[in-house]
Amino acid sequence: MITGKNGRGSEAPDGSAFRVPLYRTSFTGNEARYVMDCIETGWVSSTGGYVARFEREFAKYIGVKAATSSSNGTTALHLALLACGIKPGDEVIVPDLTFAATAEAVMHASAKPIIADIDPETLNILPQSVAQKITRKTKAVIPVHLYGRPAPMHEIMEIAERHGIMVIEDAAEAHGAMIGRKKAGAIGHIGVFSFYGNKIMTTGEGGMVVSNDEGAISRAALLKNHGMRKDRRYWHEILGFNYRLTNLQAALGIAQLEKAEEKIALKRKLAANYARMLAPLAAAGTLQLPSEEKGTRNVHWLYWLMAGNPSHQERICASLDSRMIEYRRFFYPLSMMPPFRCRGMKNSIGVYKKGFCIPSFPEITLEEQETVVSAIESAVRTNPY
Ligand SMILES: *Cc1c(COP(=O)(O)O)cnc(C)c1O
Repeated sequence: MITGKNGRGSEAPDGSAFRVPLYRTSFTGNEARYVMDCIETGWVSSTGGYVARFEREFAKYIGVKAATSSSNGTTALHLALLACGIKPGDEVIVPDLTFAATAEAVMHASAKPIIADIDPETLNILPQSVAQKITRKTKAVIPVHLYGRPAPMHEIMEIAERHGIMVIEDAAEAHGAMIGRKKAGAIGHIGVFSFYGNKIMTTGEGGMVVSNDEGAISRAALLKNHGMRKDRRYWHEILGFNYRLTNLQAALGIAQLEKAEEKIALKRKLAANYARMLAPLAAAGTLQLPSEEKGTRNVHWLYWLMAGNPSHQERICASLDSRMIEYRRFFYPLSMMPPFRCRGMKNSIGVYKKGFCIPSFPEITLEEQETVVSAIESAVRTNPY
């Protein structure tokens, strides 16, 4: 759940407020000023100067030639798939461990999500599994930078080039994550972001499609605006959608972008704090912590932990519950759920029963982090593994 900077907690299972919520939005910059400007000038819908400016500045931040905004990350994925020419019956490879939108968008494009396994250390899609799933019908793969850690893009790009398929990066959880000098979203053929309330940058609801292929971005822009030509109003060239972002949302987005690097620095700091405080439990083999590959930048959207086995996870979660600390278990593997059901993957099924995310909002205090860690330590102490 999301809470404001006024510090009111989200709802605990018993109806009271969480002592430490999982996420808390923070509007610490020019948000109110820019939104007020929209209201005062009357530009509240999707026309208005902030939309184009947000697209331009976001593209510059990610390091791509072009970007087009959309109403949320899921519609951004749908637009990216269509802009890449994904057609009914095509196969698109997705990781088993992700938010459902990754596979949902593939199905809304009338294509078939083919589920690949993940790496149990990084939680990201496993290149060997992608290679195994490629058939004559495969047209694209969607690596997800899960919980802010960059996916293995070098390996994925190499496989994609070998087989002539498109790479659509789902960077919804990884604003500002990097591999070398490139940002997540700028490495594949096309990249997608979400600006949902608990993401690293938020516009309430919102999304963005980015690419160095300007043609792909114009196709996405045409599709999101009813297929209506820019130079001929009310002439609909193709069947489209209304997937537009509003000027109000873009105003929020620009203010959030101004603070993005500051927030990422805070997130990396809180991750370093957790890593330091939990180091003894990690050394004892009681917990597995997220890591960072050399030469990459993990932005730790959500800081996660993995217990040694499912019953240890249960004990730790019960301890967090009893102290009113919010946590979230890993996503259910797609392969388990009715819309996407298929034969389960070994690694994703293994990790989802052991993993959970702990409070990771940028402004978390050291005292709040200590509260979280002591709840975990007490669960481990009273029930030694
Ligand atoms: C949040 C998210 C999305 C979807 O974004 P919405 O803006 O909520 O539609 C897609 N993929 C991943 C991995 C996400 O975390």
